[in-house]
Amino acid sequence: MQTEHSYSTLPAEFYSLCAATPVAAPKWLAFNHELAAELGLDAALCETEQGLAIFSGNQQAPWSKPLAQAYSGHQFGQLSPRLGDGRALLLAEIIDKKGQRRDIQLKGAGPTPYSRRGDGRSALGPVVREYLVSEAMHALGVPSSRALAAVYTGEPVYRDQRLPGGILTRVAASHIRIGTFQYVAMLQDLPALQQLADYVLQRHYPELQQEAEPYLALLRAVCQAQAALVAHWMSVGFVHGVMNTDNMTVSGETIDYGPCAFIDSYDPHTVFSSIDHQGRYAYKNQPAITQWNLARLAEALLPLLHPDEPTAVALATEVLNEFPTLYQQQWQQRFCAKLALTPGAENAALVQQLLDLMAQQQLDFTLTFRQLSQSLTDALTPERPTTPISHDAAFLQWHHHWLAQLQLENPKPGFVALQAQMDQHNPFFIPRNHQIEQIISQVVQQDDLTLFQQFAKALQSPFVATASNAVFAQAPPAGGPHYRTFCGT
Ligand code: AMP
Ligand code: MG
Repeated sequence: MQTEHSYSTLPAEFYSLCAATPVAAPKWLAFNHELAAELGLDAALCETEQGLAIFSGNQQAPWSKPLAQAYSGHQFGQLSPRLGDGRALLLAEIIDKKGQRRDIQLKGAGPTPYSRRGDGRSALGPVVREYLVSEAMHALGVPSSRALAAVYTGEPVYRDQRLPGGILTRVAASHIRIGTFQYVAMLQDLPALQQLADYVLQRHYPELQQEAEPYLALLRAVCQAQAALVAHWMSVGFVHGVMNTDNMTVSGETIDYGPCAFIDSYDPHTVFSSIDHQGRYAYKNQPAITQWNLARLAEALLPLLHPDEPTAVALATEVLNEFPTLYQQQWQQRFCAKLALTPGAENAALVQQLLDLMAQQQLDFTLTFRQLSQSLTDALTPERPTTPISHDAAFLQWHHHWLAQLQLENPKPGFVALQAQMDQHNPFFIPRNHQIEQIISQVVQQDDLTLFQQFAKALQSPFVATASNAVFAQAPPAGGPHYRTFCGT
């Protein structure tokens, strides 16, 4: 396995070297063999005492040089100048089998110089949730940090109650956040800011290094990556829940899974997080918040954009103003693909009509798209009973309109081919909240991994309908309580 520590070549104020705090009685919960192979990790690590010791923080791997990264962040709009990894440790960067540099990080391995009053630990429930949801996001094709390992610590953590503790090992293209730039900008150390920007260019956007204005190009590239990411989230009904600037990467990957959840019945106002009282991070607000966060990145980059501040502001504003169009393009591509339509303004209006009807009728987001796909061949095979998605006249009218549009655009391929196409853009199942809760409760309260393992296997193929994953495709029982999530602290 090839490991490096390039982040620690940045100036000292970017991080603090910090060892993990050993735990009492570590035990394996999960190990991701497929990801381990991608990384070139020794497969034996998952079977040995040494592997367990490394992924629980009880032993420092010979290839690691643990450090906590420094960053700031706007949390619910308020700037916290000094956050940093309060419960995460970067072990190393692994150069994977494809030559990609990837961070390997322990989450919940004990206090760091950035822990403030926190214990540096994670409860087991949020570890299980992040493991499953991040892996599901990856399988759905959404850029995401990955889960390599999860262990029980054998120690309690104290939140509003005593809970078992866990440690997650996660892997990401990097953990450099908008907040990392904010932190360095606040130091008012121009060379350090430039070093960070150069580092990010080299690591994530090497093709931009030769640009005449590389830092403006960097801002534009992050805007593009984030526009694509958030449109992808929207297309699978994902609500991140805590889109603070410290939780948004410059690579364009989803990280920091906390109070995140997927929408069941479609309501664009959906908020799951118990602390998001204003709905700042509601489903429908995610694109606008992304742009707000990108404006904070732009502010941090200003001194690199032009020596004259008003000129720098004008340059940055121009790039930021492109965001709504970038997002709209990505949204159109994703949602038109869900309905096998060609992206364009007219078809986007057709998508929006459907979403409005789904909201009015509280239709399940994931199931509706899959049922629409099913309806394409139902029409061809009348002997098979059709499952009406909705009996509502407006919905049936919309359905007619959609079929007509498909026929117009596809005189040749036929509905069978279109259905296959749609099924590649509409998951058969997503990690449903009620199922995630059931799995967490089995792991945490009954120490039973059966359902966890079944689900972890199934979620590798979320687009394929099989008998074994059909159970995970079911919507929650109607009339259940509104789902609430809590920050993983
Ligand atoms: P999050 O909401 O998980 O993104 O965390 C926000 C900030 O709080 C980050 O700086 C975390 O490192 C820190 N933090 C969260 N939980 C803990 C904890 N249990 N102990 C120490 N720091 C924490
Ligand atoms: Mg965070």
